[in-house]
Amino acid sequence: MDLIESYRDCVLCPRQCRVNRMADCDDARIGFCGETDQLRVAHFGPHFGEEPPISGKNGSGTIFFTGCSLKCSFCQNHQISHAGLGRSTGLEELGAKIIDMVELDHVHNINFVTLDHFFPHIFQLVSLLRRDGFNPPIIYNLSGYQTVASLKSAKDYVDIYLPDFKYSDPSLATALSKCNNYPQIALEAIAEMVSQKGFLDSSLTGAPLATRGVLIRHLILPGKVANSINALTTLFVEFGPDLPLSLMSQYQPVVHQEDDDLNRPVSEEEFDRVYSHAQELGFEHLFVQFPEKGTSQHQVLSPFLPDFERPDPFPATDARQSGA
Ligand code: SF4
Repeated sequence: MDLIESYRDCVLCPRQCRVNRMADCDDARIGFCGETDQLRVAHFGPHFGEEPPISGKNGSGTIFFTGCSLKCSFCQNHQISHAGLGRSTGLEELGAKIIDMVELDHVHNINFVTLDHFFPHIFQLVSLLRRDGFNPPIIYNLSGYQTVASLKSAKDYVDIYLPDFKYSDPSLATALSKCNNYPQIALEAIAEMVSQKGFLDSSLTGAPLATRGVLIRHLILPGKVANSINALTTLFVEFGPDLPLSLMSQYQPVVHQEDDDLNRPVSEEEFDRVYSHAQELGFEHLFVQFPEKGTSQHQVLSPFLPDFERPDPFPATDARQSGA
């Protein structure tokens, strides 16, 4: 994938904006993701809040990129996806920091979070790391809203895909993420990821750390249980019981939402209905983040709700997910 040509007429994601993202061009226009061709990073560092085979005991080496091609209204990383928090960085500089994380922090993998609008940079970055002899598992932590074409071009620069499957309901996808084609696009994207890498290897072998494969994530939204139940059914029908699936209950309102359901956390009753459905369907490899007891409408602090204004946005990431 050519770095310059890809940004000159951008069709990197299903938004297909066809804008010129070259920052130094007079007619440069920024697309839906809000980013130019300047790579921007909001945070990097070891992260312990991922699923056990991803975080391990030393953490996952996360790099959070600024901007997003999906921009859900309820995004838990609102500061970086919507508000543009982050700073420009060169590939060599970022590569050196990643190598430090590998050598000094002994992270188990490199975890690129929300990266598809910077795919051409990421492919070059991975090539640089490999050139320098660093070959940890490369994780793409994605919204699920990717084109099959872009994923085919990513194939040689990724080992593990962690895509979301957010919506089975097109009207909900329209209301919250401005894309009624999310369910269809995400299912096609996940099928491509699975065809490239298979299911998460650690789920199949019982190894403590993952090195390759696909793990799907689904964030349960308050008041949207039907969307979650249908999403799980769809995934089961499409991919079967061996599909590794992570159920997340961490939702917290970050900014006020027009849909009032989203101005509170997920209740235990809502979580239980979705979790029970996953068990009834027969998913064999479930990761589950149980809601914290006593979660209430007024709870705003969560170990999964980052503040990217802080040097350590995840101050209390002891609450890891568990295999179920
Ligand atoms: S990556 Fe950004 S500019 Fe390119 S198509 Fe997607 S939203 Fe539009």
